[in-house]
Amino acid sequence: MYINNKSNSIEDIINKAKLDLYDLITILSAESDEDLELLRLKAYNTMLDYIGNKVYMRGLIEFSNICTLDCYYCGIRKSNNKNERYILSKEEIIETAKWIASKNYASLVLQSGERQDEQFISFLVDVINTIKEETKTDKLPDGLGITLSVGEQTLENYHRLYNAGAHRYLLRIESSNSKLFAKLHPENQSYISRIEALKNIKKSGMQLGTGVMIGFPGQTVEDLANDIIFFKEIDADMIGMGPYIVHNDTPMNIYLEQNKKDMLKIYNLALKMIAATRIFLKDVNIASTTALQAINYFGREEGLRFGANIIMPQTTPIEYRKEYQLYEGKPCLDDIAEECAICVQNRIQSIGRPIGYNEWGDSRHFLKR
Ligand code: SAM
Repeated sequence: MYINNKSNSIEDIINKAKLDLYDLITILSAESDEDLELLRLKAYNTMLDYIGNKVYMRGLIEFSNICTLDCYYCGIRKSNNKNERYILSKEEIIETAKWIASKNYASLVLQSGERQDEQFISFLVDVINTIKEETKTDKLPDGLGITLSVGEQTLENYHRLYNAGAHRYLLRIESSNSKLFAKLHPENQSYISRIEALKNIKKSGMQLGTGVMIGFPGQTVEDLANDIIFFKEIDADMIGMGPYIVHNDTPMNIYLEQNKKDMLKIYNLALKMIAATRIFLKDVNIASTTALQAINYFGREEGLRFGANIIMPQTTPIEYRKEYQLYEGKPCLDDIAEECAICVQNRIQSIGRPIGYNEWGDSRHFLKR
């Protein structure tokens, strides 16, 4: 039950030694420009104190939109037959990985729809092994850092992926409220199995990344505050969250008008989530995600100003990008990778943050453990 904490000012709350659920709810409910700026400053200073001001790059390769699942919100869900399905060849992925290394980004993210078949896992293992071998340089003696985002897998397969050389894994809980999780997914996708997968990622030795969508129908600020507490309880090393944006060819398109109407509110909520997560979790890596930029041209810079420290420049070969539209208005569809590299560098430098070129920039939270 939400107990309003209005008697305490945002300033009092953010300076408390330990925040509770009600403090987080009050933070996420802040609306005045003054309160948002106080929150932003606290998050920014927490970031400076615990992890410094560098921004680390992860070149994003959306290597396949083939998906066996039917998440109600997602543009690449299996039942959306308007997508042309693709999987990049090993050569295309390796070429892109080498380009990422040549830009001194030091890390990449391999993301795709979810498949659990052996052909897919062994393909990935082979790709990871080759990336590690072929991206070793004087500046990067261990090759590119590799983050995976390929959904729920068995513990055995998480081990195989880790042993091949992937050392970080992103799997969003989407919502830590099991009832909301059930509303976002068909019955064959259970909340319990998502939790099990998150625990197995951890057991495998990989750094654990999770996160939620922000602003989907039925979600309250109390749910979001509980999400932040969930991140702590699962002991996440990395957080990737972003606004929920309707995709027209999904069952959730009935919310299109409402979603459009709420967009500014959802955007502000996403920035407050980044700040509150930074203040609450302190030393984790937090991504400023592309979906922020879909709403505001300067959204990713704003995410960094609210305490995020990771950017994932789009590096998927351009001819595949329009088939990997998770939501309407996904940005950077037509920019060649070289343009994206310059654009992202300018964006980060415009807010006075240094870029951690040739550094993996692993989660301090993980390294301390
Ligand atoms: N299949 C993997 C998985 O589900 O973890 C990785 C790919 S999945 C497309 C990556 C993320 O996209 C999901 O975790 C989800 O939060 C996000 N996403 C999908 N549809 C979205 C939408 N309409 N708005 C915002 N984010 C969305």
